[in-house]
Amino acid sequence: MKISEKNRKSIRRKLTAISIILFTWMLAIAYTLQQSTAYSDGANGTWYSWEENESVDGTQSQANMESNPEAEEPPERQTQPDTSAAESERETGSAQPPAEPENSAASGTQTVAPPEKPPAVPGRTLEDKYGDLSGSTQGYEAVRQRINGNVLTLDIFVNFTGSYMMTLEGKTYAALAKEGFMLWQGEFSGSKYDFEQDMRFSVRVNIHDIYNGAGARSGQNYFNFHCVNASERGFTNYGVGFYDRAYLGTSQGAIPYRNYTNGAIVMYNRLGSLYTANQYIKVSAHEFGHVLGLGDQYGKGLPHTAEIPLAGSGKRYIEGDIMGGHGYVTPNDIEMALEAYVTDDYQAFVNDGYEKRSGAIKGY
Ligand SMILES: [Zn+2]
Repeated sequence: MKISEKNRKSIRRKLTAISIILFTWMLAIAYTLQQSTAYSDGANGTWYSWEENESVDGTQSQANMESNPEAEEPPERQTQPDTSAAESERETGSAQPPAEPENSAASGTQTVAPPEKPPAVPGRTLEDKYGDLSGSTQGYEAVRQRINGNVLTLDIFVNFTGSYMMTLEGKTYAALAKEGFMLWQGEFSGSKYDFEQDMRFSVRVNIHDIYNGAGARSGQNYFNFHCVNASERGFTNYGVGFYDRAYLGTSQGAIPYRNYTNGAIVMYNRLGSLYTANQYIKVSAHEFGHVLGLGDQYGKGLPHTAEIPLAGSGKRYIEGDIMGGHGYVTPNDIEMALEAYVTDDYQAFVNDGYEKRSGAIKGY
């Protein structure tokens, strides 16, 4: 078949057009692939990075632990006893700090970010900032806080039930749980994000433990720590939108979940493989953080900021935070616990459904 010059030009034009379309199409596909890869990395990063993060600490047992962040949230999330009045009250009541501008490498110009907090006031104490907290208690709550100078004291009233006499590495579940609570005790130093820069303060923990309700103080609330000799994720039972310290240990505001009371910790002894004693301690400390009113830090896709440093490539959480995995109690956790106490409101790391970001989170 003969092709005229005119047709040849026409064909050339068509071929050019087709190749442009093909090229654009391939670019679009490449972009889509890249995007979906980035997305799944991000999604996985928040959930599965625990394993990797735990291994940062060097122990395989911790690595296992990280892969099993307790999923206490299913009951918290699925059933919201009060979504209406109490929740909206909380929303209006909790003032969110304005978003803090961050130094952005992308912007090209390096601007100095304003301080996240006013400069430290020399000699200012914990008590100067929060008072002694006596006005925040009814006197019978299962967790009470008080401040004297630069010492914060936590009084914990806990009722152990279930298999608390079972042992791991020679220690009873109850003893391990109490070691977990004691991880909240220590010496801390403030930063520009938490309290005052370089402010030194101490946290003391007093545990008032009873067993199966025996010897309970009259009129005193106790939260239950229910030990289960089986494999499952541990959890703390209360509705995120219904956190109320006065309800801890009572049926008020409790999620109707196997009759567990508000704020009850239900602790299993393994998730897959048996916990080591250290894992039991760390999970207990984490769950107790929920009793204090703190949310989970893992799986939230936290942005990387100076307050929330990147733990490693693609990992988004405060490195080693007890509310993230099996790390340690940070000054930020203490600040969130204090905020929960004075506001009687649940303190989340990010806005996420019913969870409202804590005023203690200032880095972004
Ligand atoms: Zn948790």
